[in-house]
Amino acid sequence: MQILKIIVDEDKCIACGNCKEICPKGGYIWTIEEVASVSNLDYCHVCTLCAMKCGPDAIKIERNAPDE
Ligand code: SF4
Ligand code: SF4
Repeated sequence: MQILKIIVDEDKCIACGNCKEICPKGGYIWTIEEVASVSNLDYCHVCTLCAMKCGPDAIKIERNAPDE
């Protein structure tokens, strides 16, 4: 089973919305309020585009595949 976590550093996030815009499933996964937050990670296919597009480098993607 794959364990996936996307962590947004709330001190770094400037709520620009780039993550939601670039994410192929952005409407399902990303909510931009005062800071960005994620939900429904079942939709995420770990393309890492959100992290690459985040100017302040606030997104950390942690992937853990215990079966490997
Ligand atoms: S791209 Fe980065 S800074 Fe912009 S809203 Fe998303 S997490 Fe925040
Ligand atoms: S890794 Fe890809 S699919 Fe997952 S939240 Fe980021 S942009 Fe969206």
